[in-house]
Amino acid sequence: PATQELLLSRIRDVPDHPIAGVTFKDITPLLADPEAFTALTGALAELCVRHGATKIVGLEARGFILAAPVAVTAGLGFVPVRKAGKLPGATLSQAYELEYGTAEIEVHAEDLFPGDRVMVIDDVLATGGTAEASLQLVRRAGAEVAGVAVLMELGFLGGRARLEPSLAGAPLEAL
Ligand code: IMP
Repeated sequence: PATQELLLSRIRDVPDHPIAGVTFKDITPLLADPEAFTALTGALAELCVRHGATKIVGLEARGFILAAPVAVTAGLGFVPVRKAGKLPGATLSQAYELEYGTAEIEVHAEDLFPGDRVMVIDDVLATGGTAEASLQLVRRAGAEVAGVAVLMELGFLGGRARLEPSLAGAPLEAL
């Protein structure tokens, strides 16, 4: 609760970003505060350990900023899931629906194996589309899902319900 209050106090609401009518949750004040950033990293790393993760997947781009220090803190490897066309090696790719149009994300096929238990980390869970596609990538690689951990869940967008089938019983943790 003390940590939650600290984290919440460092998230800035930006009205009408990126488009009119949307309130963007900006985590840059949290990243700039060493006490809050350290608390966040520690809390996420603790979740990874508690749920038996053996590998950390971070989602481009803000997910990278959180997942990398979490991986180091938990003593686990970090694997980036990137927007299509950025990773140089052989990839698995997954398309998913956006409100308008589609998007595609990729992971290096050789970074995930059967036997891995993967925690997927991102800053914000909104509609759940990005996290859902990343879980599909993890499973297609033959790896197991330890869970999804985010700083913040925008509950009114229904991401948790959308994610439920692909979580298949694994936890969705929102700090
Ligand atoms: P979703 O696929 O709709 O769940 O959107 C989640 C993705 O969009 C995540 O990678 C987030 O980083 C990003 N995102 C959506 N809304 C916000 C926000 O208010 N603040 C920061 N990132 C957001």
